[in-house]
Amino acid sequence: MSILVVGSVAFDSLETPSGKREKILGGAATHFSLAASFFTDVRVIGVVGEDFLPEHEAVMTRRGIDTAGIEHAKGLSFHWTGSYLKDLNAADTLATDLNVFATFEPKIPASYLDSDYLFLANIDPVLQARVRKQMPKVKMVAGDTMNYWIAAHRENLLKVLAELDVLLINDGEARMLSGESNALRAAQMVMALGPKSLVVKHGEYGATAYFSTRSFGKLEQTHELEQRPFRAPGLPLSDVVDPTGAGDSFAGGFYGYIASQGVTTPEVVRKAMFYGSVMGSFAVERFGTERLQTLTRAEIDERFGQLREISHL
Ligand code: AMP
Repeated sequence: MSILVVGSVAFDSLETPSGKREKILGGAATHFSLAASFFTDVRVIGVVGEDFLPEHEAVMTRRGIDTAGIEHAKGLSFHWTGSYLKDLNAADTLATDLNVFATFEPKIPASYLDSDYLFLANIDPVLQARVRKQMPKVKMVAGDTMNYWIAAHRENLLKVLAELDVLLINDGEARMLSGESNALRAAQMVMALGPKSLVVKHGEYGATAYFSTRSFGKLEQTHELEQRPFRAPGLPLSDVVDPTGAGDSFAGGFYGYIASQGVTTPEVVRKAMFYGSVMGSFAVERFGTERLQTLTRAEIDERFGQLREISHL
């Protein structure tokens, strides 16, 4: 099974308590693809500028990611500047330079049209909607967004939410989207906006999945108990160097595992939550994409076992 992802492919300038980095490879689609590539085939749609060099693309192609859908345009790549000095669990956006994304018209290569799963990673909801429209036959659609789009592009975002089987966002975004501070009520209100299921990420503390009665359209053989929220813990880590990309890596592990199984039984969705948590835990150990570049499947499976042990009663 293959995943088609659209989202930012970017350069990030970051400061965290562990140090600073200028213009390192980042972007929601980049982190997502790298994480998902450990589980299934991944194809990317995005746009980059002249500052995006073959060595940057090689980070993806080395992991077998299909980059035929990354357009090279005149100008500079998307550039995000963020700081985690105040709170390691919440990025403080200092600047968002859309650059080549401001005029991007997504085009889907013919070789991508048979993709089974669609992931609308964080980017302008107008672009997410355009890609969704061009892929009407996919088995499942999941997506992500962030405060930047919730605040100023709500109308466009609501159109995307109406199309989603699963939305993945963090606690702050769920509160912002719903206007409700109670976690369970906020989840129900967000699902009432369209997504059939919702995954709320809690930074270092893990993530919770919520299911509506319409969940996945096909949560096969679902028992009432299995419709209740399900929480995957975060793995306690001694060193968190850079949280950038943790959310996208969670999404990559979660959705990559679902795509690799081809069904959305409750057991698959629960394991996917654990794989998401595992991939997020690796992402934060180094700056940017560094850790996912050296990661092996054996390390992923070992950490999955650890996560299982710390949460088993
Ligand atoms: P996260 O996984 O939530 O930490 O996402 C981090 C990635 O999101 C970074 O690599 C950024 O390049 C990217 N990003 C930041 N702001 C935006 C935005 N407004 N639209 C799309 N991508 C963004």
